[in-house]
Amino acid sequence: MFYEQKVDRRSRELMVEFLAGHYRYNTMNSWIRGSSYANRVKIRHLGLTHEQDSKAYDVLNTDYWDELHYVIDDFTSAMDGRYTIGSNGRSGGYLVLYRGEYYDPGYKSRCRACGQLNYQHISNDVGQCGLCAKMERVNLAHPFRWHRTTGSGIDGDLDANDLSVWSMSQLRDRVDLVCRFDRACDEMRQNFINLIDGCMVVTETVMVPKTITRLCCSAPL
Ligand SMILES: [Zn+2]
Repeated sequence: MFYEQKVDRRSRELMVEFLAGHYRYNTMNSWIRGSSYANRVKIRHLGLTHEQDSKAYDVLNTDYWDELHYVIDDFTSAMDGRYTIGSNGRSGGYLVLYRGEYYDPGYKSRCRACGQLNYQHISNDVGQCGLCAKMERVNLAHPFRWHRTTGSGIDGDLDANDLSVWSMSQLRDRVDLVCRFDRACDEMRQNFINLIDGCMVVTETVMVPKTITRLCCSAPL
């Protein structure tokens, strides 16, 4: 546990101290009010060994984000979409707890050929696509369930005095949420370290005249 802390849920004082003392960061920009619980994830704040530290910057040049993002997807669905994790700050140096929601974007039909989405139902089995003109437009079987993040802060304008009037169950719920967020940040840090330790960054030239950098992993993560 690097970010996650043990918090005694029986003690009002300790829960308030934990919440009021947790690292915070802006949810949008520094000039728009709103902040939330956050953790610092710049390389120099990850507690790496010297050897890991020098390899870490190579990993940053690859598509490593795919290897970490499923932790966020897990967290978001465990929270039923009401909370999610995003990165903020210059070069994404902070992981921030965000409010979010599932929503229906309103599409009613889709083209099976080119994938274009349309807001109109069609009355026949298939209709013509407005983009590629093929007769491949079909109604969606179910509405989409997409997820979006809202920029509103979480407890940004509360201090220890405000928190100490919360009920014990309110405090416990909030501590549970923030600890779950910290645990997800721990998992992402650990996955990142596994990438550093278990992978060799190779630069290869492919047929298209550009150089790509990718990770070669010794074992599936
Ligand atoms: Zn189409």
